[in-house]
Amino acid sequence: MHLIKAAHLKRQKISEFSKRTLVLKEQNIHPCLKVILVGNNPASLIYTENKKKFCLKIGADCEIIHLEENLSEENFLSTVQKFNHDQNVHGIIIQLPLPKSLQHLEVGSLISPEKDVDGFHPINLYHLLSNQKNIPFFTSCTPKGILTLLTEHGISVAGKKVCLIGRSMIVGKPLAMLLTNHNATVTLCHSQTPNLENISKEADILISAIGKARFITKEFVHAKQIVVDVGINNHQGTICGDVCFDEVSPIVQSITPVPGGVGPMTILSLAENLLESCERLLKK
Ligand code: NDP
Repeated sequence: MHLIKAAHLKRQKISEFSKRTLVLKEQNIHPCLKVILVGNNPASLIYTENKKKFCLKIGADCEIIHLEENLSEENFLSTVQKFNHDQNVHGIIIQLPLPKSLQHLEVGSLISPEKDVDGFHPINLYHLLSNQKNIPFFTSCTPKGILTLLTEHGISVAGKKVCLIGRSMIVGKPLAMLLTNHNATVTLCHSQTPNLENISKEADILISAIGKARFITKEFVHAKQIVVDVGINNHQGTICGDVCFDEVSPIVQSITPVPGGVGPMTILSLAENLLESCERLLKK
């Protein structure tokens, strides 16, 4: 069994991204990300800090704009607009989830598509859907990270049968599009899919993005399979994926560990999207 780890790739990418940042700075472009965080959701506090740490590591600026949970809709929208119009800001993220009072907003449309490094804007999603290679756009970070991880481990998805479980807007659906654009044949499954184990067993690549600890057992896999575990779950006080690792890993060909597999790839993609946003300015 081969472990598809991110550690080596992460070191490589930090070095590559640091060099790209230096080149940009020489051209007077200082990569700058603004992360808008509303309220004090404990997981969001950790995620935003991790994003900031990573940006600083590659020499980019990152500011967390920490807003009070009870701020008005008007103030929230004007903060986003201010950064949309600031030429020195190259990427903006609105950390989810937002407090209930703001959840009715079409949050994906608020950030200008040119700065939408999370890739959630309808224009960016449309470009993903239509696979228009020549139009610059941002691909959602977790799907992009998964494809990079597989590619860098010498795994091509072209011509492969992929069983992808989970149809969320941030992972499952954009990932299904991205893999299809790269010539995989994707079966997108969810909680209402019957015979999940049989569909999974027929796939060359199984990707689980469910959010249920130890859901994928030996009944879902076969010996030639590549298993990608996107899940990050708190199970009895420890972090684990969707896959029952001790049961599945001895059977399959390759598998991503949790932690240390897909997890780090999301931040790498975010940093790459930020640099691409800056490099696009140079081309203009
Ligand atoms: P969501 O809760 O938004 O979506 C979960 C999906 O799983 C839904 O489509 C749901 O189906 C499906 N599902 C739930 N239960 C079952 C089941 N029993 N059988 C089949 N399908 C099921 O989650 P996210 O997409 O946001 O995240 C999924 C996991 O990935 C989480 O653990 C999250 O923490 C992790 N994650 C990891 C990231 C990383 O960087 N590694 C980044 C983002 C997320 P239905 O639509 O029918 O309800």
